[in-house]
Amino acid sequence: MLFDFTLSQVASLLGLAQPSRDVRCTGISTDTRQIQPGDLYVALRGEHFNGNDFAAPALAAGAVAVLLDEVPGVEPDGPMLVCDDALLAYGLIAGWQRDAFAGPIVAITGSAGKTTTKQLMAKVLEQQFTTWMTQGNLNNHIGVPKTLLALQSEHEAAVVELGASGPGEIRYTACLVKPVVGIITNASAAHLEGFGSLAGVVQTKGELIDCVDAEGIVVLNADDPAFDQWRARAGHKQVITFGLSATADLYAEDLQARVDGSDFTVCCRGQSWSQPVQLAFPGRHNIANALAVFAAALGLGMSPAIVAKGLEAAAPVAGRMKTLVGEGGARIIDDSYNANPASIRAAIDVISLAPCAWLVLGDMAELGEGAEQAHSDMGRYAKQQGVSALVATGPLSRATVTAFGEQGYWLPDRDAVVAFIKQKMPDQATILIKGSRSAGMDQVVRALQLHS
Ligand code: ATP
Ligand code: MG
Repeated sequence: MLFDFTLSQVASLLGLAQPSRDVRCTGISTDTRQIQPGDLYVALRGEHFNGNDFAAPALAAGAVAVLLDEVPGVEPDGPMLVCDDALLAYGLIAGWQRDAFAGPIVAITGSAGKTTTKQLMAKVLEQQFTTWMTQGNLNNHIGVPKTLLALQSEHEAAVVELGASGPGEIRYTACLVKPVVGIITNASAAHLEGFGSLAGVVQTKGELIDCVDAEGIVVLNADDPAFDQWRARAGHKQVITFGLSATADLYAEDLQARVDGSDFTVCCRGQSWSQPVQLAFPGRHNIANALAVFAAALGLGMSPAIVAKGLEAAAPVAGRMKTLVGEGGARIIDDSYNANPASIRAAIDVISLAPCAWLVLGDMAELGEGAEQAHSDMGRYAKQQGVSALVATGPLSRATVTAFGEQGYWLPDRDAVVAFIKQKMPDQATILIKGSRSAGMDQVVRALQLHS
């Protein structure tokens, strides 16, 4: 157990008055439904609730003390601290916990590929270290502290995903994490609404660079248009670059693309070794993700053979390029977790490797003013890459279907999509299903997949 503090230590850290009674806190929780005996309950505010209202149930559930940012009307039946902002306090406590952790922490940000890269990185680190990582997609100002606060004493390394929906968010979370390695996968016009422009995205992702330890390593994508800007921002920090061309420090040769994975050889500029890798994640974008991990792991002193072993042990999870079997033997690639222009392009590149490729899309959300244009660009790109048929639903996807032209079908809802596919899709087709989270295209996957 790593989290083990007295309430008075927490008060001192936060510069608060000492509690009336001191207690030992052996964990921390923000959710009364997940409280373990001995926890300190921290009252956060959500869209629909105010954690301050749950002090009494938290204590009843086994919390030994509560940290609130509102003076309660009724004094709770247990030790209490009151601060100005419980969310900031939560972050500070997480940063404190992080300082007590001696192992390497790798932080990952970027517009696309954070979760995939995190997963690959964790598998690689696991070859040598007991590794903790961000659970699910808990990558924001609440999820990142939560990840740090869940570190246990048996952990020897950690991988933390950092997401952002606006400027300053990566600085906040990255400064809590204080990574020894920071990876930026890429920057694209994803989630543009909070940033205003691509330049805003580049700037925000770059905040990670500033927070990497002075003796640490910054891993950058040499193929990204923002590379020079990030490289300059890294200043004197050690930088290792990755990319699909030989100008990067870590690059791939002999690329062999399959719909369900890629084979390639990793080379290191200026060194004589080369390392074959068989990756179970399809698409050039995943080769880039694997190269980023390779760069980070080499920077941490791991050997190429061990890194390859870790990469080969990783497999896609539901929603992210996971291959499933559908009725009649059709191959379904479930990429329904989320979508933005860059990731749809990447998905089109994968699906177009199949002789009979069906692309099934829901809308991309959060694109701001250029949304319609972005949707029709996707339709044109799919046609250009040789996709056989495009089936789409959602108001914005009308533009995608129109741009695709012949063999493009727009349907009013997901049920109509499922019915259409069941009726029209050839058995030997490969079908890739994708859309933003809000499009709920995972329901289409569920309806089409063969249930054993
Ligand atoms: P989120 O912002 O939702 O947390 P993320 O950055 O964690 O997303 P992933 O969940 O790894 O990204 O992947 C999301 C989508 O992006 C997937 O559909 C995947 O195919 C695609 N993708 C993954 N890596 C890249 C990459 N390097 N470049 C472009 N697209 C990618
Ligand atoms: Mg993610």
